[in-house]
Amino acid sequence: MILEPEVETRPWEEQLALDDVSYRAQLAYLFERSAFYREKLGAAGHGSAEEAGGLAEIARLPLTEKQEVKATATRENPFGAHLCAAPSELVRIYSTSGTTGTPSFVPLTARDLNDWVTGSARSYAASGVTPGRRIVSTYTAGPFVAGAALESFERIGLCHIPVGIGNSERLLAAVELLEPEAVVLTPSYAAHLIEWAAERGFDLTGSSVERVLVAGEPGGGEPAFRRVLEQGWGARVTEAMGIGDIGISLWGECEEQDGMHLGARGFVHPELIDPESGVALPLEDGAGGELVLTHLRHQAAPLLRFRTRDHVEVRMGPCPCGRTGPRVRCIGRTDDMLIVRGVNVFPSAVRDVVSAFAPRVSGHVLVRPRSPGVKQEPPLPVRVELARGEPGDSVLADAIRDRLRSVLVVQTRVELVPFGALGRSEYKSKLVER
Ligand SMILES: [Zn+2]
Repeated sequence: MILEPEVETRPWEEQLALDDVSYRAQLAYLFERSAFYREKLGAAGHGSAEEAGGLAEIARLPLTEKQEVKATATRENPFGAHLCAAPSELVRIYSTSGTTGTPSFVPLTARDLNDWVTGSARSYAASGVTPGRRIVSTYTAGPFVAGAALESFERIGLCHIPVGIGNSERLLAAVELLEPEAVVLTPSYAAHLIEWAAERGFDLTGSSVERVLVAGEPGGGEPAFRRVLEQGWGARVTEAMGIGDIGISLWGECEEQDGMHLGARGFVHPELIDPESGVALPLEDGAGGELVLTHLRHQAAPLLRFRTRDHVEVRMGPCPCGRTGPRVRCIGRTDDMLIVRGVNVFPSAVRDVVSAFAPRVSGHVLVRPRSPGVKQEPPLPVRVELARGEPGDSVLADAIRDRLRSVLVVQTRVELVPFGALGRSEYKSKLVER
């Protein structure tokens, strides 16, 4: 189902023309209201919105790093100097989990929140869920932005059954008794539940679930890992992706399963950059790089050329579903990336290559870099967990090592460990241990 056909099938050139108008207005708004961007753009030699130009010139403007915004938060203004709205205009304040301790706050006006839910609803509707049927969610509606995604299920016309995080009994009871069409969860949790259900004699493949919607971490789009999830659930797996500071479920995959469409089109402008140099790359079919996002009509705390740290591959060709514009597949977080003798290696890509050895392996892997930092000397140690009852042997270990070398061009040392030896997660998986 296409939620808003006139928007989602609009030729991309027309979309860009509309977005250019929004973008110029957003820039004017930033110059008027954002102390952060007045200073930042001024320092880069851009004294006015007119001078900064339109979307065609956006690559001339500086990139925004999360840390630099966060550094402007003070006791008096805990949001940071990019806050543009008056306190009375805010209707919701989320926090991002933040690895550094202090949370960063994400304020929204009523229109911002509505745009978030609209974009998210388009993204999730792309998965093929149908109005009138049921969806079980496992996200908490707590402090984190993911809570807003839950509102999009209502917008699509689904009956939403929240079961929260970390309650597998309740989840399987809901699946068994309420017969939902879909579940939404992280790919790690989807994988964990396959084992969990099997241990209890519950046949997930025979359940009512036809669609498994994964989000929250990279991996759901990787072919071999996806195959494991689809076989375990007997359902179609599609993924969605957002980023806390910009918006929830900005991207959502359709039933063609060939990358995520931009559900938040009209609200957010995507760019691609080389993560090393920061240089803008053309958004063309087959291109890869870090995703950079710009708000087009945000009110509370708009961001310009925000570095997401998500490394994506782009598809620009037509999609049989009829939606237009770029599609992306997330390869991994640039923060998780290792460089082994000049070659970029994403732990989620390692997991995908290893998953192709199912049913002999469980699909759980742990990359264990030997030195701190990004650059590593080969061989890169990788622990691979065997499937239940699988003894494993050096022939299997060698085959996995050889496949990793041919697919990812990385030399590894593969250590097979028994089933259950690696940690499981009901939220996001830890794929790297230092
Ligand atoms: Zn499509």
